[in-house]
Amino acid sequence: MTEKAEPPMGRTSFYYLAIILVTLILSVSALSLGAVALEGGDANAGAYMLVGFIGLALSAYMLLQTQRKSSRVAFEMPRVITTILCQKCGFKNIRDFQRGDYMFKEAEPCPKCNEKMMVASIYREVKEKGKES
Ligand SMILES: [Zn+2]
Repeated sequence: MTEKAEPPMGRTSFYYLAIILVTLILSVSALSLGAVALEGGDANAGAYMLVGFIGLALSAYMLLQTQRKSSRVAFEMPRVITTILCQKCGFKNIRDFQRGDYMFKEAEPCPKCNEKMMVASIYREVKEKGKES
C-alpha cells in the first residue's frame, strides 16, 4: 500500500476551487428555484433570486482572486536610465539602459556637433508622484 503525499499548496487550491464550485452550484439552484417560484407567483421568488445573484457574484470574485495570485509574481521592474553627454557642446541624451552600457563608454555621435558622446551616468529611475506645481 502506497500513499502519495499531497503538496500543501495543491490541496489548498483544490479546497478553494471546491468551495467556489459549491457556491456556484448553490447559487444556480437558488436562481432556478427563484425562476420556478416566480412562475408560480411565490412571494419568495425575489429572495431566491437575490441569494442566487449574490452567490454568483461571490464565486466569480473568488475565481478572479485565484487568477490574480499567479500573475502577481511578475511585478514591474525598476527602470534603469542611461544619460549620455556630449563633452563638446554639452548636449544631453537620456535613454533606457541597454545591455553593455557602462560609465565613460563611448556612445553614438552627438546630433548637434557630431562629436562622439559619452555615457555620463547610469541610474535607477525614481518615480516621483505629484511633481506638478
Ligand atoms: Zn555635441
